[in-house]
Amino acid sequence: MLPNPPAVSSSAPEAGSCIVCGERSTHVAWSENGYQSRACECGALYVSPRPAAGAIDITRDSHPDSFYALPARTKLRWLARHVGPGRLLEVGAGDGDFLAAARSFGHSTAAIEAHANRAERLRRRLGIEVECASIEESRWVDRSVDVVFHCDLLSHFADPHLALRRMTRLLRPGGCLFFEVGLMAEVAPIWYRVIGEIGLPDHRWFFSERALVRLLADCGLQIEQRVYFSLAPVHVASYVAVHVRDVLRRVRRSSSPDASPATVATPSASTDRWRRVANHLRYGFSGLARWGGPQTALFIARPAAAPSPAINRAVTAVRGN
Ligand SMILES: [Zn+2]
Repeated sequence: MLPNPPAVSSSAPEAGSCIVCGERSTHVAWSENGYQSRACECGALYVSPRPAAGAIDITRDSHPDSFYALPARTKLRWLARHVGPGRLLEVGAGDGDFLAAARSFGHSTAAIEAHANRAERLRRRLGIEVECASIEESRWVDRSVDVVFHCDLLSHFADPHLALRRMTRLLRPGGCLFFEVGLMAEVAPIWYRVIGEIGLPDHRWFFSERALVRLLADCGLQIEQRVYFSLAPVHVASYVAVHVRDVLRRVRRSSSPDASPATVATPSASTDRWRRVANHLRYGFSGLARWGGPQTALFIARPAAAPSPAINRAVTAVRGN
């Protein structure tokens, strides 16, 4: 990796307005932790007020390792249908579960990880090149990788335009961005009550697909492939589990005031078993996504001026199957 100045300009709208279109909205879709998520006409949600500089720790990750590890091969199998093995860089690689799986698919891997301890663990675990930096501050050499992957980061970037442009600069000719992002905007308001917490203010932005397309276009990117997974089953299951657990706890306490809540055996987000079930619910219902509601989706996007890629010869063989 050669030193490379992170000189990418931002065209992000001013504070207090939508990150996608720059307009302001008075429509509050959800409130949490003293922040509002405002629904914009363009199909995006934006956090209001804009978190102050330093108010959000970008190295904090509320997801357990299993959130990345369990679906890694599912995502890589889908990627392999469209893009062959190459130099794959993950932004925000965490402890490297996705990259470990990516190597088994033939990719040469590297990482940018802002958390110093995780970056060091990554180097030790995988023996790969890791830059400890945010994507905005990264000095990774331009035009050096075939695939830039990131998961659940678009809602977190202080300036998604800047982050996307910086990632695009890292691509070799024919390279692509491969990413997962939740499509949580323009859903019926009841879904936010079912979900319960949407992670404000760490989740600064939420997107509908049309808002995402516009954001990408503003960064010179176009979507080439996509697949959707309905989040309705996992959120409904979590909602039911939490409420059943609360009812059982109340019943148990009323019948035996000294009983410990921990003895009530119901599904819990803290159990490995539940996490595996949740993973199946999250990625097992792509067909339901067409009925609406919250979704997560995988996208492959490329610079708009660069048509189809040559990075992958293996694709032809895979598509032929
Ligand atoms: Zn907007």
